[in-house]
Amino acid sequence: MPQEKWNYNPFWDEVVSRMQSSISEQEFITWLNRISYAGSEDHKLVLAVPSLFIRDYVMTQYKPTIQTMLNELTGEPVVVDIVVKKVAQASAHPTEGTKDHTLDKPARAHHSAAQMPKPQEKPKDPNINSGYQFDSFVVGDNSAFAYNVSMAIAKNPGVSYNPCLIYGGVGLGKTHLIQSIGNYIQENTPELQVVYVTAEMFTNEFIQAIGEEKTPQFRNKYRKADVLLIDDIHFLQKKASTQEEMFHVFNNLFEASKQLVFTCDRPINELQDIADRLKNRFTRGINVDLQPPDFETRLAILRRKCDGKACHISSEVLEYIGRSVNTNVRDLEASLTKLIAYSNLLNKEITLDIAREQLKSTYSMSKDQSMSIDSIIRVVADYFNISPYEIKGKKRTKSVVLPRQIAMYIARTITDYSTTEIGYEFGGRDHTTVMHSVQRVEGMIQSDIAVSNSIQNLIRQAQNFKREK
Ligand code: ADP
Ligand code: MG
Repeated sequence: MPQEKWNYNPFWDEVVSRMQSSISEQEFITWLNRISYAGSEDHKLVLAVPSLFIRDYVMTQYKPTIQTMLNELTGEPVVVDIVVKKVAQASAHPTEGTKDHTLDKPARAHHSAAQMPKPQEKPKDPNINSGYQFDSFVVGDNSAFAYNVSMAIAKNPGVSYNPCLIYGGVGLGKTHLIQSIGNYIQENTPELQVVYVTAEMFTNEFIQAIGEEKTPQFRNKYRKADVLLIDDIHFLQKKASTQEEMFHVFNNLFEASKQLVFTCDRPINELQDIADRLKNRFTRGINVDLQPPDFETRLAILRRKCDGKACHISSEVLEYIGRSVNTNVRDLEASLTKLIAYSNLLNKEITLDIAREQLKSTYSMSKDQSMSIDSIIRVVADYFNISPYEIKGKKRTKSVVLPRQIAMYIARTITDYSTTEIGYEFGGRDHTTVMHSVQRVEGMIQSDIAVSNSIQNLIRQAQNFKREK
């Protein structure tokens, strides 16, 4: 290959520096920085990336720009070829793109396949449910980042996103994603030991180990993990000695470059009674959040769930469910399941009227157990540093009117109470006052991202408040 004649390396460097100036540092580190120059051929620049996943992404996101810039710089048509640079060891494994983390460990990369001992398959973790797969996760704007990061971790554990914290409200798919990571790794890189626990399981095991004087065995289990997945770390609040143990487990694994993934139902800084040094560890790497899905995504999720169940529910009914259930995916699934069960049981097609009737009882049932308006009022009052009585009271000064309107908006958004019922709870106000408040706050949310964020934050707090009770 006439390497001297065709040398696109300097052009490639120039392309990188131009592209770098137009993207964020995060984006640069995550993607662009992982493309390396691999060689030049006759009118062809060969680039290498460490995994198929990155290749797919680079192909769609960057290749056109790279191509155009290169043509401009060289003044001639140059084809860009992107290859996955596999290390020798990967050939022991047929699945491309799963062993790439060895690229970061040059000492191992020099071994030839023949020298490498055959990787030993590790026992599968019985707590990982094979029903949770990336394939069945419907990606929307609300979840794209969390999904992509999870997928990248699954393909290259221990490499770039470590530790990773996924947070978001109940029923938004945290367990689905963290378990998908576990399943993916167990299937594609079976020589890695994956351990999944909820923070509650971790706590119970730890307490039991102390009681039975088996803490060395307990520690050993976690020390042997190559990938440790811990779900629902908010459970560790107020549990000082379990936190301490978790802290040591974390340090051990992190220092050994093992992959750690955590989920939490809120941002870490909203956790209470968690040692700062542990909070620090949880947030050290990448933090991604899951937001509630928008209408389109909700509909896509419903359609997907229907596909899986071979049921016949009309688009009209699906849209009705998608519009009515806007809290989280779990509620969405529950509504669908209920209608399907009804339809199967009575051998009846679900009409819109039946759907309305059936779901109405679900809603009113969940209402009793769900958030009380009082707890919303308390959270909002706390936030604005006024008392709940002021929110319910008659005062109309600016400092209470806005909090009152926001609390009404939240009540209308996250509970199933009617405007009449909400008005009643807010010191016997008329339903039109509630409607007016909701509209006003909606307007503010539309026009001001800061307001929108604070209200999201309050909604989360109100939901957490309910769960802690
Ligand atoms: P969380 O752990 O955040 O409370 P889960 O992961 O348990 O939520 O999700 C609740 C249910 O909704 C699960 O059955 C899960 O499979 C489903 N689910 C959540 N998000 C999605 C999604 N984006 N696509 C498909 N199903 C989803
Ligand atoms: Mg969960």
